[in-house]
Amino acid sequence: METFPGPHGQPISFGDDQAESEVRADDRQYVFHSWSAQAHIDPLPVATGRGATFWDYQGTEYLDFSSQLVNLNLGHQHPRLVAAIQEQAGRMATIAPAFANDVRGELARRIVQAAPEGFAKVFFTNGGAEANENAVRMARLHTGKRKVLSQYRSYHGSTSTAISLTGDPRRWPNDAADPAVAHFFGPYLYRSAFHARTEDEECRRALEHLEQVIVLEGASTIAAIIVETVVGTNGILVPPPGYLPGVRELCDRYGIVLIADEVMAGFGRVGTVFAVENFGVVPDLITFAKGINSGYVPLGGVVISEAIAATFDDRAFPGGLTYSGHPLACAAGVATFEAFEQENILAHVQDLAERVVRPRLEDMAVRHPSVGEVRGLGMFWAVELVRDPETREPLVPFNAAGPDAAPMNEVAAACKSAGLWPFVHFNRLHVTPPLIITEEDLVRGLGIIDQALEVADSHV
Ligand code: PLP
Repeated sequence: METFPGPHGQPISFGDDQAESEVRADDRQYVFHSWSAQAHIDPLPVATGRGATFWDYQGTEYLDFSSQLVNLNLGHQHPRLVAAIQEQAGRMATIAPAFANDVRGELARRIVQAAPEGFAKVFFTNGGAEANENAVRMARLHTGKRKVLSQYRSYHGSTSTAISLTGDPRRWPNDAADPAVAHFFGPYLYRSAFHARTEDEECRRALEHLEQVIVLEGASTIAAIIVETVVGTNGILVPPPGYLPGVRELCDRYGIVLIADEVMAGFGRVGTVFAVENFGVVPDLITFAKGINSGYVPLGGVVISEAIAATFDDRAFPGGLTYSGHPLACAAGVATFEAFEQENILAHVQDLAERVVRPRLEDMAVRHPSVGEVRGLGMFWAVELVRDPETREPLVPFNAAGPDAAPMNEVAAACKSAGLWPFVHFNRLHVTPPLIITEEDLVRGLGIIDQALEVADSHV
């Protein structure tokens, strides 16, 4: 490939410095970037992408192991999704949520049919944070209670309630945006809050801890508990087998709604449409976004149980969004289900995860002293890096920035210079490629990570 299509369809050559500097100039001058000090960033101008790969303006190729914020499950420019959006734009580009629409209805039906038994309806949003905002609102109206419990080491979005639910430093500047939120510790055996030595012990103590939090916060005040089915940005923490059923049991005992946030873990990331399928648990509300249509057009939503849906049969739900269930987004969602069915995406993920990713990462953990632990499921893995394998001191301090973060920046730079775009968070390298990645690209990418870990080893 010598050229790529520019904004008005004209071909641009790789290495066109003027085109690249125009993109940089507009971006630097006019775009206000999220989570960043504006004067301290220099975003890479991306020219185009295909499958698990994208290219910068110089034609440098990157294997996309970040999946663009763990979003691009079907990869860049998937022909089925692109065609579905084009076809939908040609026949009905938009219609307000108050109307019935064919693709919106079809997508809602497919989601409900794919969900565990007992789900009835889908409320569509434009992304994950809005999905969590609305799930909490539903739980509050359904129970008549206000408080919500969520885990430390979680991320639920950056809007008002969603950022309060978040259990990581990103919530600090907005703390108490929603005061009716309290946090608890979930299971994380490698850095156990409960001094547990086995997974069973971790699971049992985490559930005992949660019950104490429920009792001390007051069950009569708690509307919902929200958990990421598999914690994502805060470490890809796969819960022990009994944990989520145990949380379900506590919710039932104390009259609390269970919300499973599957914004990152859902829609194939862990090898199933809904991540809860892996853990034998049925929540009351499931929130989703990202993988529903690989972010080709913004879309999220809440899958609602029969009981909670019935709360709003004769009582209006006080909430709505102009773009709720946008036809272009829904068309891409329907095309995602078709791709899952016709391209065997889920079987591909399960196969590569167990046959390629798990053994190779476990082998790296043995060979590299900087690797404290590898863990994950499907195409959702974390490599946790340490400075000292005995004490488990993280390779960079928690919430490190500036020079403190240098060792992780060096690991990321080593990946990039070898042609892999990584997802790095604190002391972890996440392995989250698009689900459609070929075995060959996956093996190549894992090889690049293996090499980059030598940089981390040099800090041990
Ligand atoms: N919940 C989880 C688990 C997430 O990972 C994210 C985003 O990364 C969100 C919610 C927020 O989604 P959005 O950025 O679409 O608002």
